[in-house]
Amino acid sequence: MVKLNQILDKRELAPRIKEIVVYNPKIASKVKAGQFIVVRVCEEGERIPLTVADWDREKGTITIVFQEVGVSTYKLGKLEDGDVITDMVGPLGNPSEIGLFGTVVCVGGGVGIPAIYPITRELKKAGNKVISIIGARSKELLVYEEEMMKVSDELRITTDDGSKGRKGFVSDELRDLLQSGLKVDRVITVGPAIMMKVCAEVTRPYNIKTIASLNPIMVCGMGMCGACRVEVAGKTRFGCFEGPEFDAHEVNFDVLLMRLNAYKAEEQIALKKFLEEGG
Ligand code: FAD
Ligand code: MG
Repeated sequence: MVKLNQILDKRELAPRIKEIVVYNPKIASKVKAGQFIVVRVCEEGERIPLTVADWDREKGTITIVFQEVGVSTYKLGKLEDGDVITDMVGPLGNPSEIGLFGTVVCVGGGVGIPAIYPITRELKKAGNKVISIIGARSKELLVYEEEMMKVSDELRITTDDGSKGRKGFVSDELRDLLQSGLKVDRVITVGPAIMMKVCAEVTRPYNIKTIASLNPIMVCGMGMCGACRVEVAGKTRFGCFEGPEFDAHEVNFDVLLMRLNAYKAEEQIALKKFLEEGG
């Protein structure tokens, strides 16, 4: 019999990027594009937020794509088909605003691509013309290309090293697209904070509504702990229950970047110890 939070399928999409399909009918029945879950990989594990990249309401499954960057994501990556994730809370955060805006550009970077995938799909379903720009450091780290192709009217690719698509950043492609004179009604961006910061600066002079899905450090995910505080329009907001999406032109990305690095030294020590002990 299938167990709650059991991994039913696992794929390695790229080096250190994994996709898992997990059985959780309650989350699968409610989740909407843009929402996330908080996971505890094992009994003594910390809580980490991960975006729901896809779901199957009939089968009761959700799909998560994650990059192994530290102890918790390495531990998650070690679980195999049939293993059970200790606990999972969700869906958390507000769903993305889906409406008929006109021409929408969806900009995803790294593991932000699977995260923007369901948003892109819903925007397309709502009748928008969807242009997607996806990028990664190199060709082998580019994930969800086929999925994004299926839900976009047009797909543009960038890699930092030029191994696929345009050499450069997604923000370079976005800049060129806007410079070409195309009328864009909305831009959504999901990816590393620095990428979203640059995208916001690219769209600002054009006054195009730009939404960023923020990724601050989150612990409870429901507005109690305050770990995910972000500064938006000069006010302190909670990334989890007031977000994760905010108007990118109002976000103080420098504060976000600084807070994301707050525990870097401790995280590096923890990862080193974890790997030395055999992972
Ligand atoms: P650590 O070594 O502990 O940390 C590495 C870096 O990850 C830190 O420097 C910090 O910047 C960040 N981080 C650490 N702890 C947290 C935390 N509790 N919450 C957020 N960031 C943290 N990653 C994915 O790969 N796929 C996703 O779909 C995804 N969705 C996310 C959705 C939201 C709403 C948020 C806020 C983050 C999301 N992340 C996602 C980031 C993911 O949560 C972190 O990579 C993960 O928590 C790192 O944990 P670690 O112990 O492996 O690494
Ligand atoms: Mg950690």
